Amino acid sequence: MYDVIIIGGGPAGLSAAVYAKRAMLDVLVIEKEAQGGGQIVQTGQVDNYLGMEGMSGYAMAVRFQEHAKALGVPFRKGTVEAVRDGKTKTVVLSDGTVFEAIAVIIAAGAKHRRLGAEGEEAFVGSGVSYCATCDAVFYRGKDVAVAGGGNVALSDALHLAKGCRKVYLLHRRDVFRAERYWQERVKNTANIEFLPFCEIKRIGGDRMVEHVTILHNRTGKLQQLAVSAVFVAVGMEPVTAFVKGAAALDGKGYIVAAEDCRTDADGIFAAGDVRTKENRQIVTAVADGANAALAAGRYIDGMNSR
Ligand code: NAP
Repeated sequence: MYDVIIIGGGPAGLSAAVYAKRAMLDVLVIEKEAQGGGQIVQTGQVDNYLGMEGMSGYAMAVRFQEHAKALGVPFRKGTVEAVRDGKTKTVVLSDGTVFEAIAVIIAAGAKHRRLGAEGEEAFVGSGVSYCATCDAVFYRGKDVAVAGGGNVALSDALHLAKGCRKVYLLHRRDVFRAERYWQERVKNTANIEFLPFCEIKRIGGDRMVEHVTILHNRTGKLQQLAVSAVFVAVGMEPVTAFVKGAAALDGKGYIVAAEDCRTDADGIFAAGDVRTKENRQIVTAVADGANAALAAGRYIDGMNSR
């Protein structure tokens, strides 16, 4: 039996682990990827984390992990299949392993949303990518498309524009969600062509992506664009399928919890991108991790003094 099990080894989970360990709690971090680190591993450069400007997401993830490991936080690779509420909490892994804890902090983050275009799944790894940082190198000198209008789409377009001949930025509206900083940089990059009111309907090719069919949603016109790759950056979805029944989710699947990270289930806490919140940033995830671990510590003290 652990004091607290933390599900997820991204910034929120690792921050929670550091705070829990320093509170002398018996803690376990469960992470499904061998590498761990969460979404930031795929971020080229992080420019807005206080005191670490210009650091790569990968380097930052490694530094976060080293901090937790230096304190003696134990890690277990595994995919959580269910969390069950009760006087103690049960965490079930897909390999059948069962762990018990007094409290659970869910920091499982979010995964890439699919575009929903015909051919998208078939071409994953053959021209359809969800990570420009990882895959840009394969398309040097080529024409590529980026789908989306948020921070990730625009920063991906800029990253790709460094090596690709041309980058089409395809967005379903003409207004960006991305911060003005990214918009200005995109506007000033000659080989990025912004196509507003465009939806990718079909991705086609022989073995690799060769073209996309786009719908101009204002006119209803279809157009084929020759591209060697499609970088999909249309947002994230929370990883919460395993939470159903244990804690309340909102209409979009995020765990309902306020800044104190408490869910509607006593002893179950939600931290980072997985919980309902306005701003999903590394710094807000790290803050959540601290809040969740401190709240979990108070909950555990209460349970132990009964
Ligand atoms: P996001 O901000 O949610 O933007 C998603 C974009 O994809 C929106 O433009 C949306 O269009 C579009 N979209 C969603 N579903 C679509 C669909 N089915 N088909 C076509 N387009 C679709 O997501 P994100 O860019 O991945 O960013 C995720 C979070 O990370 C955000 O909170 C962001 O602020 C944060 N982030 C911050 C930074 C930074 O520099 N501070 C960098 C990276 C990420 P609509 O606008 O029409 O809805």
